[in-house]
Parts: sequence; C-alpha cells; structure tokens
Amino acid sequence: MTLDNIIEEIRKAEKIVILTHETPDGDAIGSTLAMKLALKQLGKNADVIIKEFPKVFDFLPEREEVKQQSDIEKYDLAISLDCADFKRLVGNEYFEKAKQTIVIDHHGSNQMYGDINFVNPVSPACCQILIGMFQYFNIEIDKELGTCILTGIITDTGGFRYSKVTAETFEFTADLLQKGVNVSDIYKRVLDTKTKANFELMRRTLDRMEFLEDGKITFTYITNKDLEDVNAGIGDHEGLVEIGRDIEGVEVSVFIRQREDNENAYKVSMRSNDYVNVSDVCLMFGGGGHERAAGALIQGSIEQVKQKIMNELKKILK
Ligand code: 5GP
Ligand code: MN
Repeated sequence: MTLDNIIEEIRKAEKIVILTHETPDGDAIGSTLAMKLALKQLGKNADVIIKEFPKVFDFLPEREEVKQQSDIEKYDLAISLDCADFKRLVGNEYFEKAKQTIVIDHHGSNQMYGDINFVNPVSPACCQILIGMFQYFNIEIDKELGTCILTGIITDTGGFRYSKVTAETFEFTADLLQKGVNVSDIYKRVLDTKTKANFELMRRTLDRMEFLEDGKITFTYITNKDLEDVNAGIGDHEGLVEIGRDIEGVEVSVFIRQREDNENAYKVSMRSNDYVNVSDVCLMFGGGGHERAAGALIQGSIEQVKQKIMNELKKILK
C-alpha cells in the first residue's frame, strides 16, 4: 500500500525537502506548506524550496520559513507536490540527488517520476489528496494546516465551482469552519483581490481579445513589455485566461504570455468548458495539465504560436 510506504519513508528520513511546480498557484503553495506543517507534527523539520513566491499567499502559516535555495547537497527524501512534470519542478536538482523521492499529485498527465507516486487525477486539488493522506497518518488538521489546504482547494476549484468538486470538499470545508478557519477571508484574499498590475494586464488582454471559429475560441496575449509597463510582479498574470472561458458560446479560451527569458517563446494557458480536452492539446506541444485547464511552452512569434494552437483546436472543435 503506497500510503504505508510514504509514511515509512517519511519516518526514516532526517533531511527532507518539499518542492512544487514553477509559477506556483494556490494549490502548489498550499500543499507544500501543509506538508511542512504535517511533517512538523511527525517531528520532522523539512525545507520548502520555492524560488518565486506570489505575494498573495504571504498570509499563510510557515511563509517565512520558505527558502529560495538550500545548502544541503543531498536530502534523504524529496517530496514533489502538484507537479506533473519533472521539467517543471522547481529545484529538481534536489529531487534528482535525493536518496528517496515521492510524487503526490492530481494531474492525469503526471509522468510518475518518483520512486513512489501517489497520483489521483479525480481529485479537484492536490491539497484535497493531502486531507485523506493526513487523516490516514493520524495528523491533526488544525486551523493552520486547514488554512493551507483550503487555499489550494479554493484556488484549484475556482471557489468550489468546478465539476471536479466532491461532497468531501464541502464536508471538509464545513469541518474547518467549525474549527475557526476564516473561509471567507481566504476566499477574498486568494480569489477576489486583484493587484493593480493584474487589473492593468486584464485591461490589455480584454482589449486584444479575438473571437475565432464562430466565437468558440477566444485568443489573447501579453508581452514582456506589458509586464514591464504595468510593473507586474510574481503571479500578476494569474486568472487572465479565465475571462474568455466565461463568455457565452466559448468552448476554449487561449491566453499566451511571452517568456521573460526568451522573447521568441510563449507560455500557453488553455481553459475549456464542455468537451475539448485541453490537456491532450497541450500534450502535443510537450505540456499537459487537466482536461479543462492545461498549459505548454511554444516557440515562435505571437502569430506563429496562435496558428500552431489553432491548427490543433480546429481538428477537435464540434
Ligand atoms: P495554468 O494555465 O494555470 O498555468 O495551468 C493550468 C494547468 O496546466 C495546471 O494544472 C498546470 O500545472 C498545467 N500546466 C501548465 N503549463 C504546463 C506545462 O508546460 N506542462 C505541463 N505538463 N503542465 C502544465
Ligand atoms: Mn493543482
């Protein structure tokens, strides 16, 4: 049984590192901090390594313990959370050198790159997988741990809206409300509050939004110049892809963002509503994700990247 193997490896390890994917979202941040708190209860002091920590999650417990790098050469155990792909794992050099590795994730496209892989693609958030796991390990999900977990659930379900939400999601939330977790405060902080820069980027993406294929696809973009103009910080592009998806008649929303380190490459984000499996589309470009939310990195100019994506989408649009 994998859960038994996981707890056995945790118990054996002294030096543990916790990692997650690049451009970390609420589920990535929430699950790493929740794991740190859980390991604390087991008497382990683990390192969380996150190079670019979005400001909106600064309110979470253990934030000040997060490191950008480590001086430990070789960890006994590395735990990867919410990351389907070894290439996207920030600090994968620590993962590679660690004596034992565990991958915990909820992406169907997970490459199973750990010694132990605990992947449940049905779960709406990696954080929700942790609930069952921690209960099995007899770890108490207190107010602090619950706040981290709920942050991941709220962000990855768009505020309990997406179809992957289960009865357990609400049961757990109700339980945390009873324990005093301020659910509406978390919700407001992570979903309802926009930075000024995010708002300015939204203005630009809305202005440029194109409707393609009879209005079934929306396409928009931002460049490095935009990011510079609005003085964008880490995470300020989050949520921009959702706007197109929420428009009547749209099946797929496509949003591309120029790479800061390579002006001839774009980070693609896709969202779909009913039937297009955007994870499959992104897999064609070496990316991945979920059926209704996925991403990839594509080389070329804005126009070239758009054409590459449209060629694939046209084949599957009804
Ligand atoms: P987002 O559009 O919010 O960046 O990502 C949506 C989903 O797709 C997330 O679950 C994310 O992990 C996944 N994803 C985004 N970009 C990539 C990528 O380049 N490769 C893979 N494998 N997954 C990605
Ligand atoms: Mn996630």
